[in-house]
Amino acid sequence: MKYISTRGQSPAQTFEQVLLTGLAPDGGLYVPEHLPQFNREEIASWAGLDYPSLAQQIITPFVDGAIAPATLRALIDKSYQSFAHKAVAPLHMLGPNEWVLELYCGPTLAFKDFALQLLGNLLDHVLTRNNQKVVILGATSGDTGSAALEGCRHCENVDIFILHPHQRVSEVQRRQMTTVPGKNVHNIAVRGNFDDCQRIVKSAFGDQSFLPEGRQLVAVNSINWARIMAQIVYYFYAAMQLGGPHRPVSFSVPTGNFGDIYAGYLARKMGLPIKQLIIATNSNDILHRFMSHNDYSQSTLEHTLSPSMDIMVSSNFERYLFDLFGRDGHALARFMTASATGRHGVDPALWEEARATFSSARVSDEETCDVIRQVHEASQFLVDPHTAIGIKAARDCNADVTVPMITLATAHPVKFGDAVERAGFETPQLPPHLRDLFAREERYAVLDNSLAAVTGYVQTHL
Ligand SMILES: *Cc1c(COP(=O)(O)O)cnc(C)c1O
Repeated sequence: MKYISTRGQSPAQTFEQVLLTGLAPDGGLYVPEHLPQFNREEIASWAGLDYPSLAQQIITPFVDGAIAPATLRALIDKSYQSFAHKAVAPLHMLGPNEWVLELYCGPTLAFKDFALQLLGNLLDHVLTRNNQKVVILGATSGDTGSAALEGCRHCENVDIFILHPHQRVSEVQRRQMTTVPGKNVHNIAVRGNFDDCQRIVKSAFGDQSFLPEGRQLVAVNSINWARIMAQIVYYFYAAMQLGGPHRPVSFSVPTGNFGDIYAGYLARKMGLPIKQLIIATNSNDILHRFMSHNDYSQSTLEHTLSPSMDIMVSSNFERYLFDLFGRDGHALARFMTASATGRHGVDPALWEEARATFSSARVSDEETCDVIRQVHEASQFLVDPHTAIGIKAARDCNADVTVPMITLATAHPVKFGDAVERAGFETPQLPPHLRDLFAREERYAVLDNSLAAVTGYVQTHL
């Protein structure tokens, strides 16, 4: 299988090539040239498979022989064996036809472990085979950093540098990153905000001449295709627990960069019957504004109780727009340039198509706290603020109560004590493997908000 850029100007690449890079040279994101298709009989034949076995079925066509089947299976097994629940992604019932999919049983307690555990193992395998060393450079507003460090710290051929905004991530999130051991693990607190961190990372990818000969940067944010691929699996897994493919289900997805819900969109295109796909946003609502008013303009960043969704632009939305624009990379490139400079929508017919594909809702901090309380009152189940946003959007947008509605529970509430306390509860205890987190030694550098400070640091610490 070949992967092509959404901007249409870069040559097609193999799975291994897209695994080991970030954006395409033309500024686009890689997507598969053709999506694998599964018919109902095929999907039905997977009933009862455990999570790793199902993952193998779904991931194999994307890897397309780049890794031998038995090896791929071993890498998948290794990726999910550290999850705290045997089901890997257990479903929890909230009420009639109302479910949450608990995606926080991995080592860092957020759904990002699903992709980053696998990404780490895939990288380790491919780099060892190639006898190649790479540098991972990423920016995080919290959850990506710890999941990436946890997923990649065992990779001998990787040096990993994670930037976070100094004093702007929660203490649990910071400690989850800065206490990760390993000589190849480097945390950098940048005196700036998350966007500053991202800008630095993007510039570094654009000019990699600061690296020694033969090294290259690899992305661990959701522009890396392998992350999207890994996330497709749990849509199939959840649907099949609730009667799929014979019965459709709906999903509500707390959305920031559009990576997670894009994986659901792909699952549907690959043949999984999904009735509704709901985009749930906080007050950083560019996607909801697009869906409700055809308005894809950037507004200013708001800091909310759901910080992992505090973004101004959803980078993976470009992958969906590529399909919406009939896979015309030139038209998409024009749209992306125009939308960066002012209010901008798409052709009304395309907008209607997007509205038929996704529902959307925007949820305020106050509503988030209300839902945390309501859910706890009804069933003693404590949800994190991102999950609460998903549940609220599911309830607001539900178009057919006879269809099971599954909200993706993207993080454990212990990671977001602020919101949990605002809702009137005590922050729950850390799970056993993190109980001594506050006693562990932290290691990180605080650097100025500049590209040169960061590239200089990378050079001296490789
Ligand atoms: C990253 C994250 C999200 C948003 O996921 P996207 O793929 O960026 O849409 C939602 N909730 C939590 C807890 C996250 O860490």
